[in-house]
Amino acid sequence: MDKPLVAVLSGAGISTDSGIPDYRGPNGLWRRDPEAEKLVTYEYYMRDPEIRLRSWRMRCENHALRAEPNPAHRAVAELEKSGVPVRVLTQNVDGLHQLAGLPGRKVLELHGSARGVVCTGCGARGPMEDALARVEAGEGDPPCLVCGGILKPATVMFGQPLDPEVLGQALAISKACTVFLAVGSSLQVQPAAGLVGVAAENGARLTIVNAEPTPYDDVAHEVVREPIGTALPALLGRLAAQYGA
Ligand code: ZN
Repeated sequence: MDKPLVAVLSGAGISTDSGIPDYRGPNGLWRRDPEAEKLVTYEYYMRDPEIRLRSWRMRCENHALRAEPNPAHRAVAELEKSGVPVRVLTQNVDGLHQLAGLPGRKVLELHGSARGVVCTGCGARGPMEDALARVEAGEGDPPCLVCGGILKPATVMFGQPLDPEVLGQALAISKACTVFLAVGSSLQVQPAAGLVGVAAENGARLTIVNAEPTPYDDVAHEVVREPIGTALPALLGRLAAQYGA
């Protein structure tokens, strides 16, 4: 039997069990607090040094880098280890799929990664951990060590375009996959909504695992409302048993 290509689109809901709140969704924390949203809006971040100081302080205080993967992240990594081809398209910037053991090349981070920093001047990249250590040591707004430019997290801030290469790969996977699981995403914003649409139009078997209804429930083959931490391991365990080595 041919092995299916399994695409997993993950949103904030897969990481809430790891203690990471939904920051960026339609009802996320950023959207409910305009002052907080400025900290992650490119235009404000670039033009206002005070915003950058607050933004770095916030990152030092919320310790997102300390979050651990949960059973749902581990279930995706285990499916890949069972020999089933898996690709993850994630709206999350927490890096927890990779920490759970999924090789980085199998994960497309649609909104970038909060585990890295990038210079807005020269494009140099580095680990967030090092930048936060500099903030802890007293640099309020640590500049790029290469060119002195403004450093920002390697995430796609509000007002920034998505990386067209990442988006192109995500579209290609959505077109090619045989099974598409949308997990913990409201599917109300782009690119998530578009990717689900492409997968459905191209004949993928669509399963939605989300606490709340989504606009794609009607075209899904299966809609699961149970908690992701138990529902996803069960679903992926069945796929592994069916198609794994
Ligand atoms: Zn630089």
